[in-house]
Amino acid sequence: MMNVYMDNAATTRQSDRVLREMENVYRNLWHNCSGAYDAALRASDELECCRQKIAHSLNCYPEEVHFTSGGTEADNWGIRALKRIGEKHNRRHCVVSAYEHHAVLNVLPELKNDGWEITYINPVDGFILPEQVKMALRSDTAFVCVMYANNEIGTVNPVGAISKICATAGIPFFCDGVQAVGHIPVDFRKDGMDILTLSAHKFNGPFGVGALIAQKNLPISPMIVGGGQEDNLRAGTENLPAVAGMALALSDYLEIDQHDVFWLRNKLASGILFNIPDTHLVTPSCEYDSLPGIVNIMFDGLESSALLARLNSVGICASAGSACTTGSPKPSHVLLSMGYTAEQARSAIRFSLSHENTLDEVAYVLTHLERIVKDMKKISL
Ligand code: PLP
Repeated sequence: MMNVYMDNAATTRQSDRVLREMENVYRNLWHNCSGAYDAALRASDELECCRQKIAHSLNCYPEEVHFTSGGTEADNWGIRALKRIGEKHNRRHCVVSAYEHHAVLNVLPELKNDGWEITYINPVDGFILPEQVKMALRSDTAFVCVMYANNEIGTVNPVGAISKICATAGIPFFCDGVQAVGHIPVDFRKDGMDILTLSAHKFNGPFGVGALIAQKNLPISPMIVGGGQEDNLRAGTENLPAVAGMALALSDYLEIDQHDVFWLRNKLASGILFNIPDTHLVTPSCEYDSLPGIVNIMFDGLESSALLARLNSVGICASAGSACTTGSPKPSHVLLSMGYTAEQARSAIRFSLSHENTLDEVAYVLTHLERIVKDMKKISL
């Protein structure tokens, strides 16, 4: 039996280079960055060097990079910081795409409780359109929040055009870049967002580390208070081995030819659509509109949870949507926001490929998928 991992949007394998880098930092640079002796200064220098590397990869200033414990913390932080800024200016309205990750959506009740109004934008064919954002703006809009790329269907939003609309209106633009960073070119300055978030385990880096990138003139409030780390914005002893792993993982990941990943995922998608009846593509098929590795497909009349269990029994790892909602009986909020019914949403499978997948693996998945689907349909007759 082969083991085929096609759930890279949930997490990626840490590369050997990243593991070696982290071990090296654990062994040789383990002192507290806040210390006043040479060994601590070396650790603190390394931290700043990692900040510069990440800033260089994303085209921002090092002082705009704030390390966090991952994407969820960065998303929570960004939304809460924008809430405070909005309230200072007496603005309590925000525009949010309806298919954001729960790391964003689940902060919004805090805004509601404090009297905010939220305009949710449903995607059109999987995308948030700049015109939709423009139409939703009001005189009391405090911020706009649209993710760079969607984690379940892989669509890449026109963030450059959205940021221009926000900049013209003088409204900060928050962008969850967790699925995009590393996978497609993300340029903080050129794309024009005010806050961007990222998470290392999505690009071969370690778990539990990410970053919030914020325009340096944006007065963001602290996420965690305590010591003065991260410029008094995010207290707690810095996790240097993880940060070093993230900085290396990002620069290494940017070297990967994502065209090969896109080619492989298209082989898989076309194989499924051609050979298995009653299947539909949810992800757009154009390379420039979607992440290279993600493809979301609906299998009419089948339950994704049952299909995933059968795939698992032959060593294939895929997912029904975001990892955090796997096993939940609720249909995906992403697919519902696109206008699919609950039944359709429950029939969707996300395959997320990486440069580590091979053509043999794609062939293996296609063979088993065809057999399993036939089998499941026979049983349900
Ligand atoms: N945002 C998006 C779009 C994601 O896909 C994820 C994780 O799947 C997160 C945020 C949360 O990131 P983390 O797992 O680092 O907390």
